[in-house]
Amino acid sequence: MQSPDKLQFKLVTPDGIVYDDAIDQVSIPTAAGEITVLPRHIPLVSIISAGELRLKKDGAEIPLVVSGGVLEIRPGSQLYVLADTAERAEHIDMERAEAARARAEELMKQKEQMADVDFARLQAKMEKELARLRVGRKYRKI
Ligand code: ATP
Repeated sequence: MQSPDKLQFKLVTPDGIVYDDAIDQVSIPTAAGEITVLPRHIPLVSIISAGELRLKKDGAEIPLVVSGGVLEIRPGSQLYVLADTAERAEHIDMERAEAARARAEELMKQKEQMADVDFARLQAKMEKELARLRVGRKYRKI
């Protein structure tokens, strides 16, 4: 039986299910700022932006980084997050993120020779890598 005091939270990426469990609350980065979802939240659909997603379960906090996607809160305390990518903070490969950030920065210097759509893609890539670096650093310093 589903507890009315819990949120059924499912986080999915194209690679598969990242998290699927009953939790107490989750904070999610959206285009309109961070939202915190508790059980019995009103139904809602929103766009996710690159940043930290923090969930709480039984007093423990699990930080992740997501890079974009959509969230849907359904009646009955069910929350679905469909993210482009999602990694737990402790699994972030900092060197890979820094290398990808530097590559994007280098390519962005050629803005004049680039279609707007390609530049926008690079900007999104940059935001994704900066979010990984930010979240990775935050949970590495003790
Ligand atoms: P890169 O730019 O690093 O060469 P990419 O553009 O293929 O790689 P993404 O599309 O952001 O990277 O992600 C592809 C997969 O790799 C996803 O499953 C994502 O979670 C994972 N991933 C990408 N970068 C990192 C990282 N720095 N640390 C951990 N996992 C990562």
